[in-house]
Amino acid sequence: MKGWKQPLIVSHCRQDRTRTPGISMSESLLKPNERVLSTLNDDGSRRWLKPRLSPGRFWLRRRVVAYLLILTYSLLPFIQINGKPAILLDLMKREFTFFGKTFLSHDTLLFGLFMIMVFFTIFLVTALFGRIWCGWMCPQTVYLEFLYRPIERLFEGAPGKKKTKKHAGLRRFLKFVIYLVISLHLSQTFLSYFVGTTVVHSWIFGSPFDHPVAFILVAGTTGLMLFDFGFFREQVCCVVCPYARLQGALTDQDSLIITYDKERGDPRGRKLSKAKTESADVTLPVLGDCIDCTMCVQTCPTGIDIRMGSQLECIGCAQCIDACDAVMDKIDRPRGLIRYSSENAVEHKAQHLLRPRVVIYPLILVLVFAGFIAVLMSKNHANIWIGREAGLPFYTLPSGEITNQLRTRITNRESVPMTYTITVIEPQGVTVSRGSATITVEPGKEGSQKFVVIAQPEAFTTSQIEIVIRITDNIEYTKDTIFEMKGHKFKALPETTDD
Ligand code: SF4
Ligand code: SF4
Repeated sequence: MKGWKQPLIVSHCRQDRTRTPGISMSESLLKPNERVLSTLNDDGSRRWLKPRLSPGRFWLRRRVVAYLLILTYSLLPFIQINGKPAILLDLMKREFTFFGKTFLSHDTLLFGLFMIMVFFTIFLVTALFGRIWCGWMCPQTVYLEFLYRPIERLFEGAPGKKKTKKHAGLRRFLKFVIYLVISLHLSQTFLSYFVGTTVVHSWIFGSPFDHPVAFILVAGTTGLMLFDFGFFREQVCCVVCPYARLQGALTDQDSLIITYDKERGDPRGRKLSKAKTESADVTLPVLGDCIDCTMCVQTCPTGIDIRMGSQLECIGCAQCIDACDAVMDKIDRPRGLIRYSSENAVEHKAQHLLRPRVVIYPLILVLVFAGFIAVLMSKNHANIWIGREAGLPFYTLPSGEITNQLRTRITNRESVPMTYTITVIEPQGVTVSRGSATITVEPGKEGSQKFVVIAQPEAFTTSQIEIVIRITDNIEYTKDTIFEMKGHKFKALPETTDD
């Protein structure tokens, strides 16, 4: 097309658009000047990471939190509140249970408000504390760093330590056998959140031929867990997780992040001993506290160099803090060259605890929470629908009475079975056949019941009348519906005359 130019392929890194003599345009465009992604080599192949463990103060605290969380994640589907699992996300039935409260498919508004609260809580926590969730609580980090990686180090040796090549293949094989067992347990725990522990239990102990779909589901989820924690690992945080992509928008210069103190650390370089410094016959440059040992890089589970500044891949795990603190202890310098801080704090700029987002998010949260409570309080204990049976017109009995066949659908929102009694209260002369009808509905379920309404036609002059139905359990509900008499020949009422 005339006038159209092929757009340049621009990588995430700084591109030097000037062509180097002897290098073709395509080579020049595709070869980045610096690392595009911490887990990619220059040629685009995967850079496999084996981070060194830095068991400092933050790692010890994270380990306590992680094991408590693993226990919580594993036990939550088994905990019963009001006879229901603490968390059950039943997608098939469209029922979502959170700590004894079940949201049904009719509760879209409630569920929507609940999700808005969840999102704004995440926004607020991120604005205040950066990626504290990623580094300390996310199941991906928790299981990878405190379950799968320790097993890998046990079988294959810790990075940075002397390794033996003896039985390397066997040790690798055993590592994957244990990974498989853990992944199987994880997949069952994961599925328990969606189908409940009883169903998962029946799948585990039933024959795969009785539950072929369930078997494929468990096998597929186990395979995904094994793939994630055995191979894919930090790629989830670096390239898949949408939350990581939002960091730039959710944090600001005052959010708590992990930072390298450039002013204190640069210029970097190895320090000479006092004797060598004194014997040197040239003036040596004054160096900062960073001795360029790269321990902070070697320990990073996403392979980044925090000294390059805040980066998208940083999950806030604080391993670089622990690594650098250990180095500072060794060279007798104060800890905190890498530390929890904010961009403004580390650059000695004014810090603001109260920023627009830190005020607006809680305000929205309070408003949405108030709306959530108001909707919750206004909810009936039962959802009731009443309508005419499709395709069934009125019927005239030999006695001359007119009948309509109606149907009610009742969703019991209580946690115990409920029996509902159906009667007609208005107008006079209209009743449910045999006086009333009843229906019993299990908790959280929907029941359906047909019933016949009989009317004395004399009192009516139109072909449709509105009747009021009362449904009672412990509470009374009333519903208006239409009684249909189209085609019925009404007797004319006697004319009244003035005496
Ligand atoms: S661990 Fe500390 S001293 Fe070593 S390279 Fe990193 S910042 Fe510099
Ligand atoms: S830079 Fe530090 S805090 Fe960020 S992911 Fe790497 S080790 Fe963790």
